[in-house]
Amino acid sequence: MTIIELKNVNYQVGKRTILNNLSFGIKNGDFLTLIGPSGAGKSTILKLIANLISPSSGTIFYHGSDIQKLDPIKYRRQVMYCFQQPVLFGKTVKDNLSFPYQIRNKEVDLARLDSLLKIVDLPAEFLNKEINSLSGGEKQRVALIRSIVFLPKVLLLDEVTTGLDGKSKEIVHRLIESVHRQGTTIVQVTHDQSEIQVAKNVLEIKSRGLVNEKCNG
Ligand code: ADP
Ligand code: ADP
Repeated sequence: MTIIELKNVNYQVGKRTILNNLSFGIKNGDFLTLIGPSGAGKSTILKLIANLISPSSGTIFYHGSDIQKLDPIKYRRQVMYCFQQPVLFGKTVKDNLSFPYQIRNKEVDLARLDSLLKIVDLPAEFLNKEINSLSGGEKQRVALIRSIVFLPKVLLLDEVTTGLDGKSKEIVHRLIESVHRQGTTIVQVTHDQSEIQVAKNVLEIKSRGLVNEKCNG
């Protein structure tokens, strides 16, 4: 079953064509890796799927519905985009990890937060840590677990391991694999050779969104 489908998607900025007539589908439960040269349009594709930007023409479908016609708040909870530079807010880790509960008018489940922190090798006391005191790798781990407190249907990862040290990278891989095993469809953009080598389902984006499908396994 196809969960996301891009059909004849064009993306223009002024007169410049960033994506030209791009069409492809993503199956429910897939782990898709987008590769290709810098500037090819990979990040633009993720932002379009996340509905952070809109195509100039063409349509993006989620379970067969045009995403422009879906409730944006509900869609955002199902299809989550994670930036290369983690976006944290407030003062503490707890401020960030409580947020998904607040927007749903739910009580914070501290046991769930503890177990998520444990998965990314951070102690429970980390909840009270100030954002400013975290390393880059710790910030990314907090941002990632914030986006999966309530498991999304689709997780869009825009080079989230770029710049992380080996240990943080390994921990993030473990987290992403665990999310995938729980049924979330993963779409990642990466330049990391070790990630590309183990990827089973690779879509190569050439210039302006021309695609070339590859399968490693
Ligand atoms: P990739 O992720 O493959 O490196 P991007 O999707 O970030 O590529 O960008 C594709 C091209 O589109 C780049 O040349 C980039 O400069 C351009 N681009 C993306 N968004 C905009 C924008 N809002 N305004 C101008 N140019 C943009
Ligand atoms: P903003 O641009 O509003 O700061 P981000 O895109 O940086 O939001 O998202 C920050 C985090 O907040 C996300 O990782 C996610 O956990 C949570 N979030 C934001 N908006 C929503 C929403 N509508 N539904 C669910 N979670 C959300």
